[in-house]
Amino acid sequence: MATETYDRLVAKAKEIKLLAGVSGLLGWDQETYMPAKAGEVRSDQMALLAGLLHDKVVASEIGDLLATLEKEKLSAERAAVVRETRRSHDRERKLPKELVEEMARTTSRAQEAWAKARKEKDFPAFAPWLEKVLDLKRQVAKHLGTPGQEPYDALLDEFEPGCTSAELTALFTRLEAELVPLVKKIVSSKKKPRVEILERRYAKAKQEEFGRLVAKDMGFDFEAGRLDVSAHPFCSGLAPDDVRITTRYAEDDLTGSLFGIMHEAGHGLYEQGFDRAWYGTPLAEACSTGVHESQSRLWENMVGRSRSFWRHYFPKLREFFPEPLADVSEADFVFAVNDVRPSFIRTEADEVTYNLHVLLRFEVERDLLSKKLSVSDLPRFWNDKFEKLLGVRPADDAQGCLQDIHWSFGLFAYFPTYTLGNCYAAQIHAAADKELGLDARLAKGELKPLREWLREKVHARGMLHRPKELVKAVTGAPPSPEPFMKYLNAKYGELFGF
Ligand code: ZN
Repeated sequence: MATETYDRLVAKAKEIKLLAGVSGLLGWDQETYMPAKAGEVRSDQMALLAGLLHDKVVASEIGDLLATLEKEKLSAERAAVVRETRRSHDRERKLPKELVEEMARTTSRAQEAWAKARKEKDFPAFAPWLEKVLDLKRQVAKHLGTPGQEPYDALLDEFEPGCTSAELTALFTRLEAELVPLVKKIVSSKKKPRVEILERRYAKAKQEEFGRLVAKDMGFDFEAGRLDVSAHPFCSGLAPDDVRITTRYAEDDLTGSLFGIMHEAGHGLYEQGFDRAWYGTPLAEACSTGVHESQSRLWENMVGRSRSFWRHYFPKLREFFPEPLADVSEADFVFAVNDVRPSFIRTEADEVTYNLHVLLRFEVERDLLSKKLSVSDLPRFWNDKFEKLLGVRPADDAQGCLQDIHWSFGLFAYFPTYTLGNCYAAQIHAAADKELGLDARLAKGELKPLREWLREKVHARGMLHRPKELVKAVTGAPPSPEPFMKYLNAKYGELFGF
């Protein structure tokens, strides 16, 4: 009896997953190939799909099936399927369908408005859209939250189950106290990398070829995925056998496209690494946004910016670009890709300053959502706080509060998952290193053992555990910023000589 009920639940869950994949495909298309004039009809299509999805998730049949299964004794896997399906069902039931559709329609249009405003450095043009999205998000938070709960926390729970803004405040307080002096130490070091070697002329086609080579070596399956170009690199997992990643190329930037590819391929390996037998259930879904980000950051930074990785790949890179790299040594190159300096754009920030960018967004969003900060005061607030944290002031809003696409998507309370991802990544990387001896393997160009290890320990588990439990199951200890700070201090101390 239980099996029959369970199978019916899984069939329903699979329909939801399939429909979400269709919506995801339209979203991917919007960022890659959609003609400019299709924006309006696309926003209607997205709103329609969001409404259909909502109906499916809140269907009373799912509630009935869950209620029956919750009385049964189930295996750990099936219990996790029931637990997570219950979570999304209850969450979605709290939201009126009209609000869900309105959010999809508004954010689809807001993305266009944001892209134009950023290009023209015109914050007032985006401000009314930001007001509108914020207002909708406040309504969402009100429906989802418990009495007295901060709106931020109600939204955060969607991305990082079990995480609270109080925990994040503690995390960021600690990181700020350690990162600000570390940045100062690095900036005042006499040792400086030759960054101009990365800014010579590097043909786009060759960059793409090299990026594809590395992604393939990482184990990204191009028969179950694609690589395209978009303004903002991203990864869209439509199904384990259909994972789309993007990057962007600039001829005067050798490594921007590559690290974009490694980052998104890290996300992509997670999506491709789900157990197909569980497809359609939460066991073939990412544990959390923070854990997803740990996979991309681990590949991009801990592997892609390591000395041992370039021991193998630098000679190859030179074969791709013999002339511009003729006078560059491996040591020069590794130092250059690990340059640290205060900069304005988060996605281009180095590993050390990166989390200060996130900290700023955490504070800004909490204050915007609670109306402590008004949209019209945002640019000034942003620039003041940025200067306080990083010692430099953005010259315009494209370099400041207009730089990220997230708010136009309605992604509030999302940014801290990047910092959680960095912390999880360092902890998971240290555990993998202990078991596999990564330096020796990477130096030989062996990336697959790490992919296999991650697949077994993280990817294939899906949502079996909550994020904190998963980190503990993989590394033997609960999540902590300790391994991340240890990693940064060791790596940058060696590079900059302190
Ligand atoms: Zn990412």
